[in-house]
Amino acid sequence: MKKHNFSAGPSVLPGTVIDNTAKAIHDLNGIGLSVMEISHRGKDFQSVMDEAVALLREVLDVPADYDVLFLHGGASMNFCMVPFNLLQRKAAYLETGSWAKKAIKEAKNFGQVDIVASSADRNFSYIPKSYEIPADADYFHITTNNTIFGTEILEDIDSPVPLVADMSSDICSRPLDVSKYGIIYGGAQKNLGPAGVAFVIVRRDILGKVERTIPSMLDYRVHIENGSMFNTPPCLPIFAVRETLKWLKEVGGVSKMQEINLGKAGMLYDEIDNSRIFTATAEKNSRSVMNVCFVMKDEYKDLEAEFLSFAQERGMVGIKGHRSVGGFRASIYNALPVGSVQALIDVMKEFEELKSK
Ligand SMILES: *Cc1c(COP(=O)(O)O)cnc(C)c1O
Repeated sequence: MKKHNFSAGPSVLPGTVIDNTAKAIHDLNGIGLSVMEISHRGKDFQSVMDEAVALLREVLDVPADYDVLFLHGGASMNFCMVPFNLLQRKAAYLETGSWAKKAIKEAKNFGQVDIVASSADRNFSYIPKSYEIPADADYFHITTNNTIFGTEILEDIDSPVPLVADMSSDICSRPLDVSKYGIIYGGAQKNLGPAGVAFVIVRRDILGKVERTIPSMLDYRVHIENGSMFNTPPCLPIFAVRETLKWLKEVGGVSKMQEINLGKAGMLYDEIDNSRIFTATAEKNSRSVMNVCFVMKDEYKDLEAEFLSFAQERGMVGIKGHRSVGGFRASIYNALPVGSVQALIDVMKEFEELKSK
């Protein structure tokens, strides 16, 4: 049976990315060696790294005063690298979910943290809209897409201080004005590739302003100076990221991707909004285009487990909601085909019909 992969992360990748990576595991570019067994400093891997960097720069239109890094440690390592490198006295954070809370917890080890607004009061079902960013903060940190709660900041906000964004789960899902950000970072395993590599887009001039000593591996400047090769980089994940970026470019880039993504999300939210039994958990003006969270209406709550197995039997994978929201979550990242969204909608309709007899 065909599987429709709605996993939250690691998540669906384009078929060509998996095929090309499988080929390179056997033989990279016909050199007779695997991408996993060659020196990262040789020309064959260097060109993989250079192309991955160049492609991310190209698809996101990254200005020249920014560097693009591919590092170990995931988004979570950046939760501490950001304050290590930027927090001298005070940082401002927007608290929009579990990942934001984890970032805040790390920052508190380095200085004062102002939480400018939080949506904890309604279980992170919305993005706070009115708040003031303190002009004396060293930076302002946001989580653009809240993977667990299904809310998203869909525009590039203006900030009087360097804006730092965890974009783990919506990077490359829409065009960005990179010049509005100081740092954009995230784990690759939602929209860009397999687990094992994190991307960082950083404006050089915001670095080097804190007084503390920074361990080399946690110092963005060290990674910039060494072209993401201060130590051995995660070669295989970086190869797969390059393949995903090539695919993205072929599809038509991030503008085209956004159009496709809005179409997919629109279809699914429409189905939920028109349903007698399902209801969305995120408030309408805060809904994520990447992670669609929904539950059964109160009077049908006891059918949730049954729907889950009903959907699983029909090839739907990874739609169980996170325990902090319950119900269901369909992650519909860039690589998820529109046909999979339609397949889920068909299963929802089939179930609803069955239950209304
Ligand atoms: C998945 C995720 C993370 C965690 O990423 P790791 O690479 O596992 O550290 C952080 N932030 C967001 C928004 C995520 O979706």
